[in-house]
Amino acid sequence: MYIVANWKMNVPTETIPTYMHRLSALNLAAHQLIICPPYPYLAELSGAIHTTSCTLGAQNVAQAAGGAQTGEVSAAMLAHMNVRHCIVGHSERRTFHHETDTIINHKIQQLQAHGIGAILCIGETAAQREQGTTTTVLSTSLMTALADVAPPSTQAPLMVAYEPRWAIGSTTTAEPADIAVVLSFIREILSQTWPHLSVPVLYGGGLTATSITPILTACAVDGVLCGGVSLRSESLSSLLKAVIRHAAKT
Ligand code: 13P
Repeated sequence: MYIVANWKMNVPTETIPTYMHRLSALNLAAHQLIICPPYPYLAELSGAIHTTSCTLGAQNVAQAAGGAQTGEVSAAMLAHMNVRHCIVGHSERRTFHHETDTIINHKIQQLQAHGIGAILCIGETAAQREQGTTTTVLSTSLMTALADVAPPSTQAPLMVAYEPRWAIGSTTTAEPADIAVVLSFIREILSQTWPHLSVPVLYGGGLTATSITPILTACAVDGVLCGGVSLRSESLSSLLKAVIRHAAKT
């Protein structure tokens, strides 16, 4: 299981050494914890992460390789900071920064060129869900964002995170049975794109240490992408313990 912690534009409530120390006390076994802090914390986390089994992720990357791009950070710069994964296409980037699937496609190609694994977020809005266009929205996003993208490899892996946009930041997740249907739809499209590859598919949106268990039970999910619950090491540890408990039972 991949557990991706997206801090968004939040300051951690503990110091980074305390946060990392508390998480390192957990035996993550085969699970992979990826912490995605805001850019200014990457250097400190990059130093602290060596003592843990976590890996470092970023929340965004420039679509260009470099040059006159004020305020942007390139994939080469992220690789220099030991960033191994990067979220792209997050709902908040799509809403507040007007990122399109074509822009996201360029970002994925930049990440691949620098050996950074893209975590591609896709999801429908509440209105699209009500209109019954969820699968159309998801397939369009996948086809456009992954157009001409090289098949994922160990050097440049790729994950897809299904994050219903209406569930993000809320206290409710999508219904586990609905998530299961959407995940198999996403897997079907991915298997048409890359027939011999298995691309991890994650769920995110409204997750807590309590709401995660029914999802793990009902869905063949390869991981989770969480926001609010990851801001405190205590709540993230509780969620990780739920993942570990569930894996031990199955
Ligand atoms: P919440 O877990 O706070 O709903 O955020 C989900 C998310 O957007 C993770 O990328």
